[in-house]
Amino acid sequence: MNKAVFFDRDDTLIHDVPYLADPHQVELLPGAQEALEALSGRGYLLFIVSNQSGVGRGWITPEQVAAVNAELLRRLGKNYFADILTCYDAPDGAQSGCRKPKPGMLFQAQRTHNLDLSHSFMIGDKLADIEAGRRAGCRTALLLHSHTRPEVVMAQARADFAATSLTEIVDWILTLSPSTSG
Ligand SMILES: [Mg+2]
Repeated sequence: MNKAVFFDRDDTLIHDVPYLADPHQVELLPGAQEALEALSGRGYLLFIVSNQSGVGRGWITPEQVAAVNAELLRRLGKNYFADILTCYDAPDGAQSGCRKPKPGMLFQAQRTHNLDLSHSFMIGDKLADIEAGRRAGCRTALLLHSHTRPEVVMAQARADFAATSLTEIVDWILTLSPSTSG
């Protein structure tokens, strides 16, 4: 079985621009590239699991989301990801059941990539990311920013680990990972 690290996209790998539709606004967060490099080097399959409710709301198109994701890969200069999963559900309205905090995207990846979720991790900046990871049976890490909402800071203990940089989160994951895993 494979082990995975699931990344939220907005404010975890790239700066959060609400309902981002313009690839020119893609900006990698500090440490993102190094995090992906380090974790892939240790044998983790990497995934993006991203809520994009702007599509469900009719404000942006799937093609725009795909263009932003393509720009993210272009900036990285390498496709580190086994898959990029996106959920278009709006918070209300027709639901396909994938919107975090539901764990649907993680279970979808598990089915297609033979993942051992108990040895996998979910990294994100919102409690919905942490909850999705918990419901999937993953260990979870919360990335805190200077603009993180107080209620999220207060609830950071919902995550197994919390830090203000991806570097610290990667170090934590690698500490928990067998060193012989490739
Ligand atoms: Mg986010």
